[in-house]
Amino acid sequence: MDTGSFVNYQCPVCGSLNEAFADPTAGPEQTFVEDCTVCCRPNVLRLRIDQRSGEVTVDVEFEG
Ligand SMILES: [Zn+2]
Repeated sequence: MDTGSFVNYQCPVCGSLNEAFADPTAGPEQTFVEDCTVCCRPNVLRLRIDQRSGEVTVDVEFEG
């Protein structure tokens, strides 16, 4: 079983790279909020996990 993987995303506020954990058991599309480790602003992450390839794409928005 795939146990998930880390994906990198860029903070839309300060541009720093962050890591988020993508858990494939939580569904192919996930939305959650993670605080940037550098500027501590909340980033809204939208993950899409390809069930066949396991490839993860991530969209990031700043939650103002
Ligand atoms: Zn940031």
